[in-house]
Amino acid sequence: MKPDTDHNLALFQRAARVIPGGVNSPVRAFKAVGGTPRFVSRAQGAYFWDANGQRYIDYIGSWGPMILGHGHPAVVEAVQKALLDGFSFGAPTEREVELAEEILKHVPSMDMVRLVSSGTEAAMSAIRLARGATGRNKLIKFEGCYHGHADALLVKAGSGLATFGNPTSAGVPPEVVQHTLVLEYNNLAQLEEAFVQHGPDLACLMIEPIAGNMNFVRASLPFMRRCRELCTQYGALLVFDEVMTGFRVALGGAQSVYAREIPGFAPDMTVMGKVIGGGMPLAAFGAKRAVMEHLAPLGTVYQAGTLSGNPVATACGLATLREISKPGFYDDLARKTRALVSGLQGAADAAGVPFSGDSEGGMFGFFLFPDLPQNYAKVMTTDNARFNTLFHGMLERGVYFAPALYEAGFMSAAHSEADIAQTVAHAADIFAQL
Ligand SMILES: *Cc1c(COP(=O)(O)O)cnc(C)c1O
Repeated sequence: MKPDTDHNLALFQRAARVIPGGVNSPVRAFKAVGGTPRFVSRAQGAYFWDANGQRYIDYIGSWGPMILGHGHPAVVEAVQKALLDGFSFGAPTEREVELAEEILKHVPSMDMVRLVSSGTEAAMSAIRLARGATGRNKLIKFEGCYHGHADALLVKAGSGLATFGNPTSAGVPPEVVQHTLVLEYNNLAQLEEAFVQHGPDLACLMIEPIAGNMNFVRASLPFMRRCRELCTQYGALLVFDEVMTGFRVALGGAQSVYAREIPGFAPDMTVMGKVIGGGMPLAAFGAKRAVMEHLAPLGTVYQAGTLSGNPVATACGLATLREISKPGFYDDLARKTRALVSGLQGAADAAGVPFSGDSEGGMFGFFLFPDLPQNYAKVMTTDNARFNTLFHGMLERGVYFAPALYEAGFMSAAHSEADIAQTVAHAADIFAQL
């Protein structure tokens, strides 16, 4: 039942007068899928409710952080308690130390972390640190990987093999991206070529090991192995952007998934965010001691933040990490995520709709074509009209998937078998019409 007044639409129109595009982050505007963005009034567990009072099963979870679901009692209690002790001090607290210790306990590739307030800030600082620590300027990134919106990272491939990129945003001078090499994900030949041409000048190679900003694409094992070997050979730092995958695909992040297959595997630096803040503005970057000691106040690489290590955010992150490090947490989460993806696959197969899907831990992706993609160009061959039909059909039925075909999906501990079964049943309905 549609209400007489669409409160989402009214809010969107009101928002558009005072906030550019009516949103504070572009994907929220539904530009890729059309229609009216849902304004969230509250959330609990696996659900949120919009301004019209409609309930949705939430497969975004704030783009990953809400791995426990919304309003987990232990997290709410920790945040309430922290609030009463003060919002922000601009001086160190014990809780920052506790959170740093808790993160490091699960990610052995790092000896030290610095806490910041957003993934963008963490990735930007990691690049500066990589450059400062190596004394080199050039860096590699991959088409379709997103590392936040620092100028040097807003870049797409230029024409030709292993060339330097072009800015993807107005306001980014070409000189700022002149050191950023943009390669195709999973393309071994380009990777080799780039290191042959620029290896000695490379500060780092930054990669989403399981890319969640082109839906869900894994770096292949041979590709990841070669990234590691070439970085070691040329003295460039291998930087894992685990803002999305950290504490999301496994307790040890995507690096622990690769380390299962490649003995001794570890990145040199890791960027984290999303889950480690449990829904509060918190992110981090870390590495071995020798690299981290280049940071101010110990070293010459400057980095700072008024709200860094915020006491309420660290309380939220810490409570979240304590819950998700309980035994069996990820087994349970992964089982549910797999059940969703295989349920969707079954529904698509039954309707004769081309489909493929993949998941790791509590993160998943699916595609309206038969074979899993290896790179961004393939992801973008998705039939937009069909994707939008699926997206809006699900939305009308109270299931909120990512409003763009190049975004991943997220399961939480709060999703029930019944939520998943209902999601699959709704999808079967829509597949039958596709
Ligand atoms: C979300 C994300 C970022 C940016 O984090 P913000 O907190 O939005 O600035 C960076 N890298 C990856 C892989 C992300 O998914």
